[in-house]
Amino acid sequence: MKHWLQRNAVPLRLAVGSGAAAAAVGLLGLGIALWSGCWIPVNRLELWIVFVAGVPMATLVVAATSFATAVSVLAPIRDMAARARRLSTKTLKARMPVPNPQDDLGQLATGFNEILEQLEASFAELVRFTADVSHELRTPLTAMRTVGEVALRDRNAATLQDAVGSMLEQIGRMNQLIDRLLLLARSDSDELTPRFEAGLVRDALVDVSEALALVAEEKQQRIEVVCPDHLLAVFDPGLLRLALVNLLQNAIRFSPPGKSVKLRAFDEMSSVAIEVTDEGPGIAPEHQQKIFERFYRVDKARSRAEGGVGLGLAIVKASVERMGGTVDVKSELGRGSAFVVSLRRVDV
Ligand code: ADP
Repeated sequence: MKHWLQRNAVPLRLAVGSGAAAAAVGLLGLGIALWSGCWIPVNRLELWIVFVAGVPMATLVVAATSFATAVSVLAPIRDMAARARRLSTKTLKARMPVPNPQDDLGQLATGFNEILEQLEASFAELVRFTADVSHELRTPLTAMRTVGEVALRDRNAATLQDAVGSMLEQIGRMNQLIDRLLLLARSDSDELTPRFEAGLVRDALVDVSEALALVAEEKQQRIEVVCPDHLLAVFDPGLLRLALVNLLQNAIRFSPPGKSVKLRAFDEMSSVAIEVTDEGPGIAPEHQQKIFERFYRVDKARSRAEGGVGLGLAIVKASVERMGGTVDVKSELGRGSAFVVSLRRVDV
């Protein structure tokens, strides 16, 4: 109760305001009644009783009623504020009670609960992400430590040389992981500002296919580029290259030796679609949307053995969305996959 009586407390201000208004109205009403002759006091005592006792009593009743009403209306808000103050990362599951979702307080509590839900989801995501990063960094560090310990025990020049080679390989992996994480962090914090230009899509596809031609050749694969010569789209060349390189690397990795990988672009309503198709094992429907999440891998052991940490498609999604585009996957188990990037088209 003490807090409602503090100097700037709303109920107190309301009580003082309404009490003053009631006193003013009472005095004015009595004054008019006296002046107009509606009320003629029988004697001076009646006049004094009405003015000295009646007006303050009425003022007091109005002020007390306003105070009590304000306290009862504000009590749930005070309760919400107290609960909000008690919130911590460990109590994000708590929700505000919503006695009546239709009234103003109910709407306030519902809005607050929605914010809590989002906070809880973001925090869970952050915890998962931190655990994934720690795990991915610990794996190469453990490998380096083991290799180092073995080399120190052996004290043999060849073993030492192998150990240094293996350590450098692990350092390379860690560098790649850190570069990818930094890229995603820059994208999250809006630091990755695209430099848009209207460009020929074919040039972008040819550039990427040339960059990965040797990798495909090692698997006796062929990269086919199919794109109309004059197809124009709005994109950031660096971001598009980053997205297509990741998609094409996956396509080459998952397609069996001797098969071809296709890079195709075509008009689609008001956008340009770029499709990267492979003849790999395909992706089961339950994984298809999750593969764009950070650190998600369908087959963890196999992916890690091939150097993947599950960030490639997250980078594709972040780069494409930075350009205002979308990326989607169409895939069937045993029949390969097609990743489609949609970008804004330029009409000439
Ligand atoms: P990674 O770097 O580990 O390959 P990605 O984010 O690129 O991670 O891919 C996430 C997962 O999606 C991979 O573990 C893989 O299982 C699956 N995937 C990606 N591209 C393909 C593809 N073309 N065919 C089949 N599976 C794929």
